[in-house]
Amino acid sequence: MDSKKAQQILSDCLKKHQGLAEQLKEVGFVWPGSVTSRYLKCGKPNCVCHKDPASLHGPYLYWSTKVDGKTVSKAISGTEAKIVQEWVANRVSLESIVEQMKEVAKDALEAASQLLKEED
Ligand SMILES: [Zn+2]
Repeated sequence: MDSKKAQQILSDCLKKHQGLAEQLKEVGFVWPGSVTSRYLKCGKPNCVCHKDPASLHGPYLYWSTKVDGKTVSKAISGTEAKIVQEWVANRVSLESIVEQMKEVAKDALEAASQLLKEED
């Protein structure tokens, strides 16, 4: 690629990067892991939940995350689940923005090294 093309690519990449950086500013609180809900059987042998899967108790809400490669779960209230779910969604979009930034940087590196090569 010629230096004019490289400069064009670099400036396009910078614009894309700055656009993504603007999106980053809008991201609210972030939270690791994810929220899951489970339906469970109870301890009473005569309860309908033991015969009918549709009568399982719940939902019981949990927040799960990986600690040292192991999944750890913690029971949370419905209110906490609502908040955490939103913050987890924020984290997912944050990560997606960072991934896009990395992709933009790959193109930028190619163009930037081309320009530096020509300066030698
Ligand atoms: Zn039951």
